Amino acid sequence: MARIVVAGAGAIGASIAYHLALRGASDVVLADRGEVASGSTSKAMGGVRQQFSTEPEVRLARDSIRFFEELGAPFFLQVGYLFLATTDAGLAGLEERMELQRSLGVPVERAAVPAGVRDDDVLGAVACRRDGVADPPAVTRELVRRACELGVELHEGTDARDLDREVLVVAAGPWSGELAELPIRPLARQLLETEPLELPERLPMVVEAETGFHFRRRGDRLVIAMADSVPRWGTDTSVDESVFGDRLGRLAHRYPAAAGTRIDRASAGLYDMTPDAHPIVGRIAEGVYAACGFSGHGFMQSPAVGAALAELILEGETSYDLSPFALERFEGDAVFPETLVL
Ligand SMILES: Cc1cc2nc3c(=O)[nH]c(=O)nc-3n(C[C@H](O)[C@H](O)[C@H](O)COP(=O)(O)OP(=O)(O)OC[C@H]3O[C@@H](n4cnc5c(N)ncnc54)[C@H](O)[C@@H]3O)c2cc1C
Repeated sequence: MARIVVAGAGAIGASIAYHLALRGASDVVLADRGEVASGSTSKAMGGVRQQFSTEPEVRLARDSIRFFEELGAPFFLQVGYLFLATTDAGLAGLEERMELQRSLGVPVERAAVPAGVRDDDVLGAVACRRDGVADPPAVTRELVRRACELGVELHEGTDARDLDREVLVVAAGPWSGELAELPIRPLARQLLETEPLELPERLPMVVEAETGFHFRRRGDRLVIAMADSVPRWGTDTSVDESVFGDRLGRLAHRYPAAAGTRIDRASAGLYDMTPDAHPIVGRIAEGVYAACGFSGHGFMQSPAVGAALAELILEGETSYDLSPFALERFEGDAVFPETLVL
């Protein structure tokens, strides 16, 4: 059987290597030039949602959720994901998306705003109780552990380009463009963590539909995030403290019990953006496959992506419809941009 080198041991590469091994591939190398889960996966919020705005993205996330459910705590906490709207237009958007999501079997429903979250300006909210929050590096390390148990060779500190192989899988996140010609641009995104707070046991991920401001509980702290008003394209991951005041003000408004807290820790990571904010998943050249360009939501889709790509590599075809994610779509106009990029 051909030697398969998976380039990148983040959430995506780990899942591909694990699924290749599960399907019986016997010569798989998982290579990372850093360490397991040292790229974007180490910086992720850990949100796991099935609530997207386009059918292909909903399907990828929906078909991943069972895997997270099986992993369970402490890897995945099924606390739900709540989107709230404060304008008529925002609410109409939520309801339209809810119809699409429900038509695909995702149990999204109108929901009450949970205790502690300000609701006097809220016109309506929707939630999916099967969504939740996870620990991306821990999930990734667990997958690598399982993959290695099944015979995958792990090489850390190794550039995948230096390894002999018959098949290369590009799963190098924001650095994927260094391994193949791909329309991927890194975009810096920050996570801010509060001081320890008194928090309810089961706080869902809370997302403001109009602003994209969102927060989750991580241990005894809240982690908050929001898109920058001016996108930070490039690989600079220094922390921009100038936004702290704005984000704390938004948090104090939406979650009054957190008023007066400070930002205790902050980090910036990289989204691997494509022009339409959908990933590139599939064969891109003879003996070369890609799974990258996840545009800020790859962790939650990694189980389905790993399963589908492993099937494609080993069987030559997959029962999963990967056609929406083909690289070739960029030869024409990308016609179905994902709008729910948080
Ligand atoms: C602030 C932030 C918040 C996020 N929040 C969420 C969220 O809530 N939910 C969600 O699903 N996603 C989220 N994401 C996105 C998520 O982190 C990524 O989509 C996901 O982790 C991508 O994993 P990956 O394996 O593709 O990439 P990475 O984790 O970046 O892994 C790529 C790996 O490739 C390695 N590499 C690079 N070049 C080479 C080479 N030549 N040879 C060998 N190895 C190489 C790197 O060292 C790295 O370890 C967030 C991202 C950020 C930055």
